[in-house]
Parts: sequence; C-alpha cells; structure tokens
Amino acid sequence: MANSHKINWVNTLFLTLIPIIGIAGTALLCVFGIVQWPTWILAGAMTILVGFSITGGYHRLFSHRSYRCKWPVRLFYLLFGSAAFEGSVLEWSTDHRNHHRYVDTDEDPYSIKKGFWFAHIGWLIRLEPSKRDFSNVADLAEDPLVRFQHKFVVPLGILFAFLLPTAIASLWGDPLGGLIIAGALRVTFNHHTTFAINSICHMFGKKSYSNEQTAVDNWFTALLTFGEGYHNFHHKFPIDYRNGIKAYHFDPTKWLIKLLAYLGLATDLKVVSKRRIIRQQIIAKEQLIQEKINKRQLANASIEYRIEVFEGVRQSTQQLLSKIEQLEQHYRSLIQNKMKCCSRKERKPYRAQLKTYRKHIKSAYLELGTYMNIWHQLYRQWHSVPA
Ligand SMILES: [Zn+2]
Ligand SMILES: [Zn+2]
Repeated sequence: MANSHKINWVNTLFLTLIPIIGIAGTALLCVFGIVQWPTWILAGAMTILVGFSITGGYHRLFSHRSYRCKWPVRLFYLLFGSAAFEGSVLEWSTDHRNHHRYVDTDEDPYSIKKGFWFAHIGWLIRLEPSKRDFSNVADLAEDPLVRFQHKFVVPLGILFAFLLPTAIASLWGDPLGGLIIAGALRVTFNHHTTFAINSICHMFGKKSYSNEQTAVDNWFTALLTFGEGYHNFHHKFPIDYRNGIKAYHFDPTKWLIKLLAYLGLATDLKVVSKRRIIRQQIIAKEQLIQEKINKRQLANASIEYRIEVFEGVRQSTQQLLSKIEQLEQHYRSLIQNKMKCCSRKERKPYRAQLKTYRKHIKSAYLELGTYMNIWHQLYRQWHSVPA
C-alpha cells in the first residue's frame, strides 16, 4: 500500500485537459458562430463508431468472448476503440476481467466500495500500469491484430480520435470544429459514459438478477452507453452477448451484434437460456423475501400467513421449472435423434412429437409467466413489511 497515493500524471493531465479543451473550446466556437452543422453530424458519427467499438468490441467481444467475429470487424473495433483513449484491448480487458472476478473487493480495479468517484475516475488517476501482469488475457494476446493495437495504441488513438475528424471536417472548411467537437468533446463524452457504468451502475438502480454484488440495472445509463446499463444482468450472466434482454430494453449493441450475425460477420452468439434467467430472477426475489422473514421481530398471524403463501409459491415454481427443464431436455434429444435419421419417412414421427413438445413448453412458460407475476406481487407485499 506504500504507493497507493501515487498520482498517474499522464492520465490526470489527459482526463483534465481534454474535457476543458472539449467543453470550453466548443462553447467558444459556438459563441463566435464558426461551427458548421456537418461537424455536429461528424461528432455524432464518431461517438457512435467509437462507442460501439468499446461496447461491442472491447467489452462483449474481447473481454467476455460472448460471440466471435470476422477479422475486418475486429480490426474496425481495434482502430476505433483506440480513439476512445481507454487503453488497448489487452489493458482494458485485463482490468475488466479482474473487475468481474473480484467485484467489490480490493482486487477489483474500480471497486465501488472505494467510493463513487474512485470507481468513476479516481482509479485512473491512481493507476499504476506496471502492476498489470496480463495473465488473464493470454487468449486475446494470441490474436496478432490485438498485439498490433497494443503496441501502437497511442499513435492509433491520436490518428483516429483527432487527426481523422480534423481532416474530414476540413472538407467543409471546419478543421478546428473537427478537432475540438468531433475530437476532444467526443472523447470526453465517450469517457464519462463508459465510466458511468463503473460508478452509476454500481450504485443507482435495480437488482433483478443478483443481490450478491453491487451491480444494478439502470435504464437511463443504457441510453447513453449503447445498452450497457443493464449491469446487474451482465454481472450475473457476463457470457450473454445481450445486456438488455427484454424486447423493450434499449440495447443497440445487442442489435448491432445481431445485424453482424445476419450479415455473416459474427457467429457463435452466446445466450443464457430463458429458464436459467427466470430461475435467477426468482432466486433474487426469494433471497430478499427470506432476508425479511429472517429479520422479522414479531410473529403475527398476517406474517405467518404470508410466509405460508411464500413457501407454497416457492415449491410450485420449483416444480414447474424442473418440469420445463425435463421438457427441454427431451426436446433436445428428440432433435438429435431426428438428425440421425437418413430418410424423410424416418423423420416424420419425430416432427409430430417435436410439435407436441413445443406446445407443452410454450404452455409451461405461459404458466411460469403467471408465477412471475405472483412473485412480483409477493416481493411488493414483503417490501412493505417492516424489518
Ligand atoms: Zn461492473
Ligand atoms: Zn463486463
């Protein structure tokens, strides 16, 4: 702990000067009326390209390997990811894998237990890069593109973050706007929205899938981070390529990965089964209700009745989940058997059986949906019970 107060001056100066240049510079350019509107479009486009390179590339592809993709996409992520000025993929991923593995402990590089500002930016001010050993990213270092980016991340960052927008904006006579708005201001935006995942998404929001750590789901942060705000789900199921799993969840990174898969550029998209996710949601609610039951001071008739209802619903849900598990297992083995058949005639009886299983599985999930509503109600009722 002797060096814990050391300041990383490179990071400190960068994280101070770039926002000042970006915000004050943009204000001055606007005051003097010398910004041209295509520059704003360029800044928006750069924000999206760099943002996706961090969320779809650095995070979901490289750090978690939640899908695979062709080298042109990887190269794109690596080049535009450099422009985020969040380090190389190897640096970002080693820290992020440690964050997941040691979350909320001293080994977590941006532990929220050390405070909101430490998790947001303080950890970068104190960062000692020489302490990284990269042992947890050996798999990523096998990729020559990743090694290339690691070696040249600073010149690549300068090229893609500052020189490229300056050159593009000079096409309509606004190189300064390109440098300041699509460069410095854009870097500041991408920085602080990424940082918000480590700070806001470990402090303000809902824990629908796991109570064991500080990560929360925060829909507002998802709007600014291309879907990364569903952080409680992500910490529980980091292998899933999605962060927002509901149809109405705003997760453009998930849609981008789906689009890449549709175009044949991404494969092996990893998804956690619906049954496992629902089971986990129920476990999270069960734990909170159980905590309330354990903490209750006075036994009274109304509480005893609620406990009885809780136990009954718990048992019925477990039975239903086991039934779904069995149905799904049978369904999978029927598909495997069907694949082994050589002729159409042999496959025919399987088709009818599979159809029947699909019907049973669908109605079991509908029933499970009803149970989930009961769980929501139970949770709300128990929430109002004083501890
Ligand atoms: Zn986290
Ligand atoms: Zn992650």
